[in-house]
Amino acid sequence: MDSGKSTVKYGLGKQKDNQLCGNTDNLIMNDWAEFVRNINMEYTQKTGRTRKFRIDVFGCQMNELDSETIAGMLIEMGYQEVTDNSPADIIVFVTCCVRENAEERIFGHIGALASECAEYGSIIAACGCMMQQPHIIEKIKKSYHNVKIVFGTHNIQSFPELLYTYLTKGRRVFQVWEKEDRIIESLPVKRAEKHKGWVNIILGCNNFCSYCIVPYVRGRERSRKMSDILNEIKALADDGCKEITLLGQNVNSYGNDLGEKDLFAKLLYAIEDIEGIKRVRFMTSHPKDLSDNLIDAMKNCSKVCNHIHLPVQSGSNRILKMMNRKYTREHYLSLVEKLRTAVPDIAVSTDIIVGFPGETEEDFEDTLDIVRKVMFDAAFMFIYSPRKGTPAARIENTTPPDSISQRFKRLSELQTGIATNLAKKLEGKTLEVLVDGLSKQNPDMFSGRTTTNRLVNFKAAHAEKGMFMDVEIIRAGAFWLEGKGGNERG
Ligand code: SF4
Repeated sequence: MDSGKSTVKYGLGKQKDNQLCGNTDNLIMNDWAEFVRNINMEYTQKTGRTRKFRIDVFGCQMNELDSETIAGMLIEMGYQEVTDNSPADIIVFVTCCVRENAEERIFGHIGALASECAEYGSIIAACGCMMQQPHIIEKIKKSYHNVKIVFGTHNIQSFPELLYTYLTKGRRVFQVWEKEDRIIESLPVKRAEKHKGWVNIILGCNNFCSYCIVPYVRGRERSRKMSDILNEIKALADDGCKEITLLGQNVNSYGNDLGEKDLFAKLLYAIEDIEGIKRVRFMTSHPKDLSDNLIDAMKNCSKVCNHIHLPVQSGSNRILKMMNRKYTREHYLSLVEKLRTAVPDIAVSTDIIVGFPGETEEDFEDTLDIVRKVMFDAAFMFIYSPRKGTPAARIENTTPPDSISQRFKRLSELQTGIATNLAKKLEGKTLEVLVDGLSKQNPDMFSGRTTTNRLVNFKAAHAEKGMFMDVEIIRAGAFWLEGKGGNERG
């Protein structure tokens, strides 16, 4: 990689002190943002037009949140967002490397922008997990010349500086830090929604599941200070936010690096006192770290939604061991039982990988068995794909692709049947829905989510984003419910 901390000078006449706290980084970031804003103001005075940006996000909710931060920075720097696909002066890709096909798709999208870049002079910036990999950087340098700015997951705060360098020097800038131990607070954020907000509580992961690239590209666990998190949530509430989702690769280990046990449970109790916030969600929970205290907090905190996403990945103890998941199927089943005892109507969703190297028919039967036993409300199912650099990628996969596809089909059919049966039980019931706006599937309907995270499309005389409404469920399927006659909740 041709760039790193040492190759970049900070501030015009200012030196960055690596020992300084996040706020100082933010001050420096604001300086660079102001320099870019001045350039853009001059450009507007000369041309009569404002520079535009658009953002293409891939991957998980953490990337969604990063994209909101990048949008916030670009607005600070005087850019205007285009939300349709109309031409933009800068197009930012927030990338994901969790699956190989995501990488291929991203390169496809970047390549497809060649004519926009040639015609309008658009430039591309790329950031996110995929950029933490040296072979990707080499590929971009060699073959994707419209990508002018690259930064990694640890130095999102450098974006204004890198953009300034590009705008003033006209050369491509690559800056990917291999690690970062600090958390930079108070970066500007342009929230995609007012009524719902993502809040990072812990960055990175210590678990090293054998198939997963995340610990290598997002670094070790770093928890934000509880006071910073609570202040952010209070600010969101003051701005009209009703529902927050606490984010982390493993929220259950929040606080371990701060030397505090069960801090995540304490955080949930503390959020109870924040006026205006009505619902709290969190993801993702690692089964090995789901403590009894946390289950108690889920039971006792009225704002915590009746839903948990608890990735099981496989029902076979042998495969779980190979995956380095550090729990057994028996432990997983006991957690589900505890959760359902504490919160009887809780919905449980999961992730499952099919065709992990060495998975036998017997292993796969164990996965089907755990799916039948738990009866998940929803499951995200994936066919295993090797990620370069992970231990699992070195294991030869001897199962024929056809057999893996067959297994995937069997699992999908089983899970869809279970989800449909569970959904049917909701027909005729009236459920509280937080309205998200018009439905994407049926624009003549509104859409929202129940506390159990079920998607509901419904007809109503009037509904608005952010309203809580009672909706009667008239039809139910595996993936969404249909309702009618919503009345606003008092
Ligand atoms: S818990 Fe495992 S699967 Fe999740 S991010 Fe960490 S290493 Fe990856």
